[in-house]
Amino acid sequence: MTAPYDIKAYDRSSLESVLAESGQPLFRARQLLRWIWQRRATSFDGMTDLPSTLRAALAQRHVLFWPALVAREVSSDGTRKYLWRLADGASVESVGIPTRGRLTVCFSTQVGCGMGCAFCATGRGGLVRNLDCGEMAAQVALVADDFPARVTNAVAMGQGEPFVNYDETIRALRILNDPDALGIGARHLTVSTSGVVPGIRRFATEPEQFTLAVSLHSAVQSTRDAIMPGLRTYPLSALHEALGDYIAKTGRRPTLEFALIDGVNDTPEETRALIAFCRGLLVHVNLIPVNPVDGTRLRRSRDATIEAMASALRAADVEVSVRAERGADINAACGQLRQRTPREA
Ligand code: SAH
Ligand code: SF4
Repeated sequence: MTAPYDIKAYDRSSLESVLAESGQPLFRARQLLRWIWQRRATSFDGMTDLPSTLRAALAQRHVLFWPALVAREVSSDGTRKYLWRLADGASVESVGIPTRGRLTVCFSTQVGCGMGCAFCATGRGGLVRNLDCGEMAAQVALVADDFPARVTNAVAMGQGEPFVNYDETIRALRILNDPDALGIGARHLTVSTSGVVPGIRRFATEPEQFTLAVSLHSAVQSTRDAIMPGLRTYPLSALHEALGDYIAKTGRRPTLEFALIDGVNDTPEETRALIAFCRGLLVHVNLIPVNPVDGTRLRRSRDATIEAMASALRAADVEVSVRAERGADINAACGQLRQRTPREA
């Protein structure tokens, strides 16, 4: 593999190995991280505390390109949605969600997504390409600058399936977590996966206390196969086992996301299956009324059905919450991020 061109695609440990190869001391990695992620340097020239020979060598081999803002929309609730253009012209979206002293950034991990979930706008155009860790962390840094505020939480819940792009996603979390970069606490960094079992197993072995969310959406195999066709390779039994092992190994409580679709996954049978799935697992269930997506006939469950499902779960001692919708008026809510060309923005 050729070395990544953009210097932002290096986390601390890969920067250290590159610097060591050219005989540089390790503290240069810290300096570089600070220039990039805290001062948003746009060229190597300005990195005045680095020796000029090193600056020249870096500039010869690397670029330092920040995604360009193509469009920005602000919701009536303060949520902001961004469309960025990347170095190769591809575009991705991110969302900034301010809540009482906190700022959460939802970032994308791929351009498009190959899983094809029936209720999700991102899946429509299929997978275009993976993002690298620098492209992921840059979304978070640029949203911080726009508010401007310190980002307290970041979630890999935008476009793409993070565990299909596992290594770069973990590197991005490391950059976001690094005190010389964004400095966001590991527990405040969350990955949402649609249920890619090998990824969940690897995630359990990472030394940092990152947080896991799994998009379940149905504990009935035939329903899940129908609405999440890309996940047929990982049946519910394997997902259940991986979650059990994850919880035993990490002692952390994952969230199960459940987008409620009228008449599809909100029936008494679905509720019973969900309760059975949660039995023996220390999880938190997040019920989310499905957000409307153009071109689908899927409608959100009725409020009374959502409440009934929440009470049935509570009665079975399952920890549950109903997610408040943010940014739906600007199509920034879950599942509403879609592939757009800059011209469409
Ligand atoms: N690919 C990952 C992360 C990105 S999707 C995943 O699927 O988990 C982020 C979240 O939005 C997931 O929980 C996903 O299931 C949910 N989602 C997708 N479309 C939705 C919609 N129309 N309404 C509500 N949630 C949706
Ligand atoms: Fe991909 Fe997640 Fe959308 Fe499914 S819900 S298509 S996995 S982004």
